Parts: sequence; C-alpha cells; structure tokens
Amino acid sequence: MKGQGEGMTATAAQHGTVLSVASECVPLVKTGGLADVVGALPAALAGQGFAVRTLIPAYPGLVKALAHEREVWAEADLFGGPGRVLAGRAGGLDLLLLEAPHLYDRDGGPYSAHGADYPDNPERFAALSWAAAAIARGGTEEGWRPSILHAHDWQGGLAPAYLRYGGATAVRSVLTIHNIAFQGIAPADRLAKLRLAPGTFTPDQVEYYGNISALKAGLVTADAITTVSPNYANELMRPEFGMGLQGVIAARAASLHGILNGVDTAVWDPSRDPDAAPYGPRSMKGKATNRAALLAEFGLGPVPGPLAILVSRLTHQKGIDLVAEAVPDFIAGGGGLVVLGTGDPALEAAMRGLAERFPGRVGVTIGYDEALSHRMFAGGDAVLVPSRFEPCGLTQLYGLRYGTIPVVALTGGLADSVIGATPASLSAGAATGITFHPVDALGLRQALARLLALHAEPAVWAAMRARAMKAEVSWDSAAARYAALYRSLAG
Ligand code: ADP
Repeated sequence: MKGQGEGMTATAAQHGTVLSVASECVPLVKTGGLADVVGALPAALAGQGFAVRTLIPAYPGLVKALAHEREVWAEADLFGGPGRVLAGRAGGLDLLLLEAPHLYDRDGGPYSAHGADYPDNPERFAALSWAAAAIARGGTEEGWRPSILHAHDWQGGLAPAYLRYGGATAVRSVLTIHNIAFQGIAPADRLAKLRLAPGTFTPDQVEYYGNISALKAGLVTADAITTVSPNYANELMRPEFGMGLQGVIAARAASLHGILNGVDTAVWDPSRDPDAAPYGPRSMKGKATNRAALLAEFGLGPVPGPLAILVSRLTHQKGIDLVAEAVPDFIAGGGGLVVLGTGDPALEAAMRGLAERFPGRVGVTIGYDEALSHRMFAGGDAVLVPSRFEPCGLTQLYGLRYGTIPVVALTGGLADSVIGATPASLSAGAATGITFHPVDALGLRQALARLLALHAEPAVWAAMRARAMKAEVSWDSAAARYAALYRSLAG
C-alpha cells in the first residue's frame, strides 16, 4: 500500500503539487465528513497528476503513527510556544503534522473537551494556517513547495489570508467550505494575537459583525472557493443558508465552484466489506443475512416492513427532532428503526425514548462506531437523512452504494445525489431514493409513508435498489473537477 502510494506520488507530480491543510483527516482523526474528504482526495488527485501533501495538527498520539518521520519546518514562537512540522507517511498519505504541544496536547477531542470548545481555538487553528502559508511561501527545509494551497473550512481559513497578506506569490489558494455553520469567530481584540494587521479589520476583509471570522478571511482572500455540492453552492448565496456570509459569497460567485464529494469505494463496498456478509446487485442474499444479524444485534424482533437506519451526529441540523416526531406512524405501518449517533443530550434522550416506546422495533446505540455503521448500511433497507441543511452528506452516498435506499430532505448535496421516487421517475427507471420538502415532521412522515408503500411492491423496490447500487459515488469525477480547477488557477 505504502509503496503504491509513493509510486503514485512520483507520477502525480507531473501536473502540480498541492498542500492540503485541515483540522482532521481519515484515517488519523475524524469527527465528520470533512475528515473523509481530506483523507480521500490525495489518492483521487494522484490519478489526475497532482501530488498532495496533507497538513494537520499533531493531536496526541499522532506522531507515533508517522513512518520515516523528519522535521521539515519550525518556528520557535508559534502562537505562544515552539512549533515544528514533521513529515512522514501514515495511513497511505503523505502527511505533515504540526507539532505544537501548547496548542494540541489536550485531553479531549480536536476542538473541545467535556462539551466546551477550547477557548484558544482561534489561535490553535491560526497556527495551523500560519504553518501552511509559511510552507507554501517559503517551502520546507527539504525544498518542497506546493503550487496550490488548498485549505478546508474555518480551521484552514486564515491560510489563504496569510498567503495573500504576505505579498506577491506564485502559489494559488483554494478554500473549501464543508459546512458554513462553523465560522471560526474570535473577538476583535485578538487581531494582533492572530497575526493580522489592524488594516485587515474591515467589512471587506476579516471583520464579521464586530468580530473576526477565520472563514470569512479565507473567503475574501482565496483565489477560488469550492463547496461540496453544486446545490449547496447556490444555497450559500441565500440568507436561509449563508448564515450571514451570503453577501460575501455572492460577491465571489465567479470564483465559487460546487464539487460533489465522492466516497472511498474500497472502504464502502458491499461485496468486500469485512464487517458484513458480502452482496452485490446480482445477489442480494448477503443483505438479508446482514439484516437478520442487525436485528439480532439491536435485540429487535421481526420487522415486517422496511428497516430504516440512522447514522448521524444527533443535532438540530440533521433533523433528528423530526425523526422523533415522524417515526411512530412508520412503526405502526410495519417499519423498524436502528439508530447510531451522539450529540445533543436532548436528542440522544429523544432517540432512547423511541427505543423504550417501541421495544422490538426501534434500537438505539449512543456512541461513535465505524464498524457498526458498516453493519447498519449492510443490513438496513433504507437510510434516513432528514437534514435541515446538508452541504454534501455522505450517508446517502453509502446508502446508494449499499442498496440501502436514501430517504433525504431535498437540500444541499442530498438534492444533487438522490433522484426522488415519483410516478414519473419510477416509470422512467430513474429513481434512486425518496426525497421530501419542506423539511419538517409532516414532510418526513409522508416520505416514510412512501417508503412503506414502495417497500411493499417487491419488483419496484428491487429495481430501485439495483439502480441505487449503480449510482456513481466514487471520487473519480470530483477529482477530475478539482484537478481542472487547480490547472485553471495555475494557468
Ligand atoms: P457531517 O460531516 O455533517 O457530520 P456527513 O454525512 O458529511 O455529515 O459525514 C458524517 C460522517 O460521519 C459519515 O461518514 C458518517 O457515517 C459518520 N458518522 C456520523 N456519526 C457516526 C457514528 N455515530 N458512528 C459512526 N460513524 C458516524
């Protein structure tokens, strides 16, 4: 695997080199879809002729994972303590780890401990962005320099800003918005601490409603902006979705690109999933085995109708409150539900409440469990994604690939990736899932009623499931679009 990766890097360099900077990256650290994207893009882009190196913070334990480790950059006082970048390989990636114990040696997760954000998060990720811009501009001690600096979300937002404010450079920058709800807000009095000049605190630069926003800083300084689906790119220019940044984004519409995420089709492959019995479009027997195993694992009895799954952060964004409201009718109609997630304590309690109310039909695991999520996709009949907004969404893509019919809100990337079942789309042989709008409990209840009805027609259901499994969800087309963007910037 490693040798293969290194070989790809050698050929990849023919078109350009990319420094990707982010706060998380699969398989090293993940709290959400951002990590999947950052971890998958390097291999996909290698096939397009780009060699990507990925810079993330050295959270506790990560340096140990690094093979062929060596120091390639250092600064004695990096936002309050020594910082250095270690290069090496881990998880098939060409990795750069920013080691700065005063910023990243923390007991909790990447952003918070015991439910509270670290108060110095602005500085923690400003330091990451600073190191990225410094390497982009000056190169590593080994003389490596990228042609493209690709920053992700607010944690990388200051990287294009530092690059731009540092003076003329040939390096071009791209900022990808994975979720605009997180904006990297810091009080105005931290400007100097964040190494931003007083002149940058204006509404057309880093100022955001009296504060500093690292995301906005990136949006106004990056050479190009991307977001993770075409539909979300359009939505972001509207006040309902732009979260105060709609004007900033609309002003940059000519540089904004929506590129739908893919999924790692080697990791998410029902014919070779180590966590489940194999199956594929030609033989679905394994799926029935997985369904029975899943029911047993959650201690459920027989479910005559469709078995829905929910694998999600349990938050308002994800519409979990709507599930609590809409599911009782679905259960009464013969459906079942298994839930895996963590998040808002009230929503966790609501999910537990469903399990108590419908023993034998609803099972809930509060927690984060990658292997269990695979067993759920392999054994479920449908996956619920009732998000109020969803930049791209990954679980509906896993659902398509596993023949686990996505039931999705018609928003963001969900609308770009699922073709909703209507009489017309069914007779045209196009439907791959169930979509609903508006995103409220009634909408979801009606979508679940449609799920019951479609599941009750075996031929229609089998045809839709077979189509879903053939939907294109790999990284190939996304990688081609990123590569085209990089080339257009370099040209
Ligand atoms: P977001 O990044 O907004 O949370 P996405 O759908 O883009 O939403 O990505 C979520 C990712 O995290 C998916 O890979 C999903 O399977 C995974 N995930 C979410 N919650 C859990 C959980 N409790 N256990 C395992 N995987 C989870």
